[in-house]
Amino acid sequence: MAARGHRQTSLRQTLPGLRRVLMRMAPYLRAHRGLVAGGSAALVASVLAKLLEPWPLKFIIDHVVQVGGGPAGSGIPFIDGLPMQTLLIACAAGLIAIIALRAVCQYTATIAFALAGNRVLTEVRGDLFRHLLALPMSFHSRTKAGDLTMRLISDVGILKETAVTAALPLAVNGLILIGMIAVMSVINWQLTLIALLPLPLLWLSSVKIGAKIQNVSRKQRRNEGDMAATGAEMITAMRTVQALGIERDVADDFASDNRKSLKEGVQAKRLAAGLERLVDVLVALSTALILYFGTLAVLAGKMTPGDLLVFITYLKNMFRPVRDYAKYAARLAKATAGGERVIELLDAPVTIASKPDAKPAQITQGRIALNALTFGYDPEAAPVLDTVSTVIEPGQSVAITGASGAGKSTFVSLLLRLYDPIHGSVEIDGTDLRDVDLESLRQQISFVPQETLLFRATVRDNLVLGAGRPLEQAEIEEAAKRANAHDFITAMPDGYDTELTERGGSLSAGQRQRIALARASLRPSPILILDEPTVGLDTTNEAAVSDAIWRLAEGRTTLLITHDLRLAAKADRVLCIDRTRIAEDGLHADLIAQNGPYARLWAQLHGGSHAVAAE
Ligand code: ADP
Repeated sequence: MAARGHRQTSLRQTLPGLRRVLMRMAPYLRAHRGLVAGGSAALVASVLAKLLEPWPLKFIIDHVVQVGGGPAGSGIPFIDGLPMQTLLIACAAGLIAIIALRAVCQYTATIAFALAGNRVLTEVRGDLFRHLLALPMSFHSRTKAGDLTMRLISDVGILKETAVTAALPLAVNGLILIGMIAVMSVINWQLTLIALLPLPLLWLSSVKIGAKIQNVSRKQRRNEGDMAATGAEMITAMRTVQALGIERDVADDFASDNRKSLKEGVQAKRLAAGLERLVDVLVALSTALILYFGTLAVLAGKMTPGDLLVFITYLKNMFRPVRDYAKYAARLAKATAGGERVIELLDAPVTIASKPDAKPAQITQGRIALNALTFGYDPEAAPVLDTVSTVIEPGQSVAITGASGAGKSTFVSLLLRLYDPIHGSVEIDGTDLRDVDLESLRQQISFVPQETLLFRATVRDNLVLGAGRPLEQAEIEEAAKRANAHDFITAMPDGYDTELTERGGSLSAGQRQRIALARASLRPSPILILDEPTVGLDTTNEAAVSDAIWRLAEGRTTLLITHDLRLAAKADRVLCIDRTRIAEDGLHADLIAQNGPYARLWAQLHGGSHAVAAE
């Protein structure tokens, strides 16, 4: 989409985008075809009423007042037989009936389309969010969160609004234009041709300016997406931004995008306003032509003054759609741009998904096997892990270490099937991860991420998150005790009912980590994976967390990614990843003795002391 967005020069190039958006939305609309059909019927009726509007006055002028002594009588015996008074009353009543009919029909159409639009877009938004949750990490790691939020909320919103505020009026106006041309041609086709003289000019300028408006709108949308991304990024990192004192740089960055958006907004408005004024002038030209030639035709007895009145009234209304086109074009362009962004996201492929016939995962033992596994984030580049094979037995606790960037987190991502291997496979209890239901697989692994995900809810709600079954208070407290969390939780004002702030901001890093451990222990799972659980903790917290980890590891296959080799030293087994492979595998003491990469890492981090190994 990005590649084709820049140089749009004509409406013809705009239409495919609009068509694509409509086609993509069609299946959603189909579910509400009753509403759409009802709305369309009301729409057509309201257009007919609009066409009828000047006719009562025409009858009055031609048959009641008989301006200019024009041909008396309509040639329709029924009307000619009526007394004038009756005809006058009939015309007046007819006018009210026509206007009332139009009001009712227009109201019905608006409501029907608004309902359909709202329902469809609510469904689209729901689908979009579900799709977002299903998209693989390979997608999310290269996408800006703010931009996604923008697509989810405001792009969908614009799409919905436009359906009602632009597409609908545009359809009405189009029908009115056609209807009026038809009626006018029946009355006097030569005069109709004269009236339509400025139309090609009008059409050309609409197309040209419309395309410009569309270009500006696209730029504006993209710019707003960038702004939302920067905003979201900085708001999330507020603590760091303030601590580093870089508020001014951040604000300057934002301000420049903001100014650009302002410029584009004004530009779009200026273009639209220019087109509207141009149309006004052309309508005046057309009206002047009709006044001149129409009056000549009336004087020559070729048509009645009432006919001329119908012509002039239609003319005023007929060009209104073209006049408002600029306004609608801007909205439509905005919606098309927004719609394309929504579709692009809806169509982003879910590359990691359960196979259609996938059975729920049945992790009973927790035996993990890597079979000649090769993986890289970029399939073209050198792999991060190259032909790695190993087996981790049930109940074993394994520390995964290695220098920064060695591929430890990647290793874990593959176990959770956040990515699929390029070659080889990962098996749990003898089953390839790609053959089981994805959701059930992840639900059966207890994973403690580096950043604990805490919500603005009570401590209890945060603890039971993801447990997948109802829990008794006693069970929750027991888990908290195992994770060394019970004491600090009960010391809080409302204990387990204390409301946490967003992301657990009111807790220390160690407390957050212990809540995460308690949460993990509530998940009935034979596999436990911890990602740098002690990073950034002070000594007291570190001791409490480490103590909790070993308690939690009992009876589970435990994978512990860590830089903290004192923690690694206590594991049943240490895997040291170095240069895309498992360089060393064994007990801490043995690896130290080997004097390889692990011993070097140890010397680097702990200055060569072997104290912990003896503990
Ligand atoms: P570790 O956890 O050992 O510090 P990682 O597994 O995070 O290492 O990273 C291994 C390598 O893969 C690094 O070179 C890193 O730059 C790269 N990498 C990690 N995540 C991504 C990603 N989402 N996209 C591209 N490359 C990545």
